Amino acid sequence: SAHLEKVMFGCDMVCAPVLQRLWEHVRNGQEEILLSPYLPAFCALLTHVLFCAPFLVLDALGSVCQQVRSWRIAAGSGSPPSIRRWFYCFWRVLYKYLTIVLPATALFQTLRSPTFPALAPSCWQLFVEVFACFLLFDMLFFIWHFSMHRVPWLYRNIHQLHHQHHTPFALAAQDASSAELLSLLLLALSSAWVVGCHPLSEVLFHLLNSWMAVEDHCGYNLPWALHRLLPFLGGAPFHQAHHSLYSSNYAPYFTHWDHLFGTYHA
Ligand SMILES: [Zn+2]
Ligand SMILES: [Zn+2]
Repeated sequence: SAHLEKVMFGCDMVCAPVLQRLWEHVRNGQEEILLSPYLPAFCALLTHVLFCAPFLVLDALGSVCQQVRSWRIAAGSGSPPSIRRWFYCFWRVLYKYLTIVLPATALFQTLRSPTFPALAPSCWQLFVEVFACFLLFDMLFFIWHFSMHRVPWLYRNIHQLHHQHHTPFALAAQDASSAELLSLLLLALSSAWVVGCHPLSEVLFHLLNSWMAVEDHCGYNLPWALHRLLPFLGGAPFHQAHHSLYSSNYAPYFTHWDHLFGTYHA
């Protein structure tokens, strides 16, 4: 870690001024937008849709390109989902965001009092805070997800809808009941709150979180996927196994909780 700290220090010489300028630009011009209680839900939906777009292209290419089909995770994944399935999924997600997620997270945000420090975080601080958010969110999600599978009432009323997809696709990451969508967004917001991180770190955490949820569900084991780069991440094969087996791989990203609880399935 001493080496990593040294690398980060070196990196700070380059990126600290960039971070500071970015942060000043955001603070001076966009503070009103940052303070909007509707921002988290709006950004969550927008980034989800944007991050899904490349996978929609892959799914469409899958019908004509053998190479794309070969990246699909085997275990009975069949042909890629149709554009029609994508379309219906999009409307379901949009409807739940507008009716429940947007108003409820707006209430949560007004209870929170965000602060805007004058200084941007250092590169090292940004890294530590984002990593801490992920560790905390991963643990909270594991507990919540495990409970939803163990308590039949929770499973039926909250989680079952997400399991309609035995072979998920990118957009299906958010195809869940309103209660589940809301709980996931609140877990992410609370993680950042508990860690007490800089607003810039929080934004980066939410962006990465959104991307990794999409990657988990994309249905492809791509050569450049994050879990191939970072072996402690489960990635799409790990989460797709959860969708087909139900009783393993409860954590969203890291695999250590499933290893500890004996619920890991390779
Ligand atoms: Zn589940
Ligand atoms: Zn899932």
